[in-house]
Amino acid sequence: MNVWQRFKAFILRDVQNGNELKKTSVLIRVYSLIMFLYCICQLALNIYVSRWGILPLVCTGILGYFVAFVLTYRAHSRFARNILIYFTLFWMTVSIFRLGWNCGFENFCFVVLVFLFVTGYAPLVAKIIGAALIGALRISLFFYTQMHVSSFVIPRWQMQYFQVMNTIVVYMLLIFMVALFSLDSLKSEAKLVTYNKKMKQMADNDPLTGLSNRRGMEEIIQKELKNTAENQGFINFAMGDIDFFKKVNDTYGHAAGDDLLKQLGVLFRTYMHGKGWVARWGGEEFLFMFLGENGDQTKIELDDLRVLIENSEFHSGSLTIRVTMTFGMEEHSLGDSYEETISAADEKLYHGKENGRNQVVF
Ligand code: GH3
Ligand code: MG
Ligand code: MG
Repeated sequence: MNVWQRFKAFILRDVQNGNELKKTSVLIRVYSLIMFLYCICQLALNIYVSRWGILPLVCTGILGYFVAFVLTYRAHSRFARNILIYFTLFWMTVSIFRLGWNCGFENFCFVVLVFLFVTGYAPLVAKIIGAALIGALRISLFFYTQMHVSSFVIPRWQMQYFQVMNTIVVYMLLIFMVALFSLDSLKSEAKLVTYNKKMKQMADNDPLTGLSNRRGMEEIIQKELKNTAENQGFINFAMGDIDFFKKVNDTYGHAAGDDLLKQLGVLFRTYMHGKGWVARWGGEEFLFMFLGENGDQTKIELDDLRVLIENSEFHSGSLTIRVTMTFGMEEHSLGDSYEETISAADEKLYHGKENGRNQVVF
């Protein structure tokens, strides 16, 4: 690991306390570190211009931010958070008293404000009250500096130095906080969307054939019924069942039975393209929904499909399997529930089985 990677791992190290958020600790670490370095820069300037009176304040700053930084590694992030809030406000207030309004210290109000909202578990009302108090402090300090001369009268170049330093530090802290919280939540949101899509796909589809399962098909039916009601169109349902499928399993094995189901799934999907929908309704039962055709047309289509299956060869390894299917079909009347229509189709399928199989009953 190079120095940067080591530093990153050190800053991102997880918190020991289960009650504390890693993100908050990382934020406190970065916040304290930036402020710690900032105070060192202030120290250097004050030593350079021999302004000794302000050194106790700057040294307290260095110590305070260092303590806050260390505390996050000792599972005291909450305490460190409070230090940062109160200390930044205290240090800002004293700096304004000492150096006046024109150095940009008052901008730290905004840092504390954002920090207050993105960390801590206090209720929103408490946070809003905190924010109002910070606003009141800022306004009070402004009026104070309007009425009093600051303790140190500083030359123009130093004022500019503070303005630039303070602006940079305030910007860095704000950008870091907003990025840490917004990027992360956007990322989790995107992850959640992908995950939900995957869950839905898993919930609505049969893993073996890739066709919709009963749940997915019910959703499709509801949608199509709504469309059809609006367009006054036709819907026909057909239930298809493989003839003597148990025999296929018994003769060729369960895996061969699975291969047959898969290949039938592909055949059905291709056949139904442009005609409607198909789903694996149960073990070896498939539900077909034909859209926009009358019953006679659908009967012809189903007979074609039945003959296509009868004439097809399915494969599992070196085995060749041939099967037939029986279908029961029912026209859907728009006032009825689709469950009733499907159950009528099922009834007809049963008659087809009784009458010798490999047929379409309408
Ligand atoms: P029928 O002509 O009366 O429909 O006879 P059948 O043997 O097809 O009917 P039955 O309902 O008695 O048997 C269906 C069989 O389908 C039983 C079950 O083991 C098998 N089956 C159901 N789901 C699967 C599956 O996912 N894979 C395999 N290999 N077999 C399955
Ligand atoms: Mg069967
Ligand atoms: Mg069956």
